[in-house]
Amino acid sequence: MKKDNFKIAVFAGDGIGPEIIKEALKILKIISDKKKIKLQFKEGLVGGSAYDHFGVPLPDSSLKLALKSDAVLLGAVGGPKWESLDYSVRPERALLGLRSNLGIFANLRPVVAFDELLDASPLKKNIVRGIDIMIVRELTGDVYFGKPRGVKKGKDGKRRGVNTMVYTEDEIRRIAVRAFEIARTRKKNLLSVDKANILESTELWRDVVTEVGQSYPDITLKHMYVDNCALQLIRDPAQFDVIVTTNLFGDILSDEAAMLTGSIGMLPSASLGDKTALYEPIHGSAPDIAGKNIANPLATILSVALMLRYSLSLPREASLIEKAVGETLKAGFRTRDIFQKNKKLVGTEEMGDAVAKKLRKLIN
Ligand code: NAD
Repeated sequence: MKKDNFKIAVFAGDGIGPEIIKEALKILKIISDKKKIKLQFKEGLVGGSAYDHFGVPLPDSSLKLALKSDAVLLGAVGGPKWESLDYSVRPERALLGLRSNLGIFANLRPVVAFDELLDASPLKKNIVRGIDIMIVRELTGDVYFGKPRGVKKGKDGKRRGVNTMVYTEDEIRRIAVRAFEIARTRKKNLLSVDKANILESTELWRDVVTEVGQSYPDITLKHMYVDNCALQLIRDPAQFDVIVTTNLFGDILSDEAAMLTGSIGMLPSASLGDKTALYEPIHGSAPDIAGKNIANPLATILSVALMLRYSLSLPREASLIEKAVGETLKAGFRTRDIFQKNKKLVGTEEMGDAVAKKLRKLIN
C-alpha cells in the first residue's frame, strides 16, 4: 500500500499507555514532517478509560475509528481499578474485540538483541549477540478455537477435558503467504515449526507451507519440530530469521523468545489482518509505574517502526527509527528497567526526546 494520506487510530489506553504513546507520536510526527508524508491521527478511548466514560471497554465510536483506519496504534489496557469488574466489561476485552473485528490473523513479534543491552539477557552474551528473529504466529485457528471442546462427565462419573487441534488448508495458506512475504524483506530464510511427526493437523500445516513455498523460490524454507525449536532458541537463537508457526506453538515460543533479550520494555508487536493492522508493545499497562515518567517508551517506538514497514510501506523510514533507537542506546541513555552502571538514567520523556534527536540527524 502506498498513498499519501494515512489514517492512524491512536488508543493510548490505561496506566503507562498515555506516556509511552506520547513519545511514539513524537517519532511519527518527525517522519511525517521531514518526509512530507501525510499522517492523520485520530484518538479514541479503549480499555479502562473507555469503561469509565462509556461503561464499555470498546465503545462503537472507537471500533468504527479502528475499522476506517490504515493502522491502529495501541498503548496498553487494564489496571487494578477495573479488576473487580465483570469479565464482559474488563479493559482487556477491548483487545479481543479489536482483534476479532479487524480480522487479525497474524501476530508478528520481532526479537532483536541490541549490542548495548546484551547484559540484560539471562543467557550468555555470546549466545544472544546478533539475534534478529521475526516470529509469525497464526492467531485465529488451532486448539484455541477448535470444536468439540469442554469438560464433560463420562459414564464412569469421571470428568474428561477435550480440545480439538484443527487447521484448514486456507488458514494455513494465508499465514504462510504472509510469512514468505516477510522473509522476502529480510534474510530470505523461513523456518516453519510444527509437530508433523505426531499431529495430523500439523502434517497438513507442513504440506501446505511447502506448497506455498513453490511460489517463493527465492526463500529458503526449512521445517523443524516444535520441541527442537524450543531447545534451539536457547542453544543458538542467532541461527533464526523468520519463524512461522501455529497458534499454540507460537504462543509458547514467542514468550520464550521474548525472554532472550531480557527486557519487556523493548519488545514491539504487530498484528496483521487483511485490511488493517494493530501495533502495540508486548508489555501491559504497568500500573506500578504509571504516571511517574519512568516507563520505557522504546517498545512502543519500535512498534511504530513496524507500522511504517508493514502497513504504510515505508521500510526505509522504519529502519531509520530502529537505527535511532540503537544509537540512543549506544549513546548511553537508559530508562530504569534497562539501567546499567555508568549509563545515563533518563525518564520516559527524555528517552523519547533522545530518540527523536537521533532520528532528526539520521533523516537530514
Ligand atoms: P505488565 O507488562 O504491565 O508489567 C509487568 C512488569 O514489567 C511490571 O513490573 C512493570 O512495571 C514492568 N514493565 C512493563 N512495561 C514496562 C515498560 N514499558 N517500562 C518499564 N517497565 C515495564 O504486566 P502485568 O503487571 O501483568 O499487567 C498489568 C496490567 O496490564 C493488567 O491489568 C493486565 O491485564 C494488563 N495487560 C495488558 C496488556 C495489553 O494491553 N496488551 C498486555 C498484558 C497485560
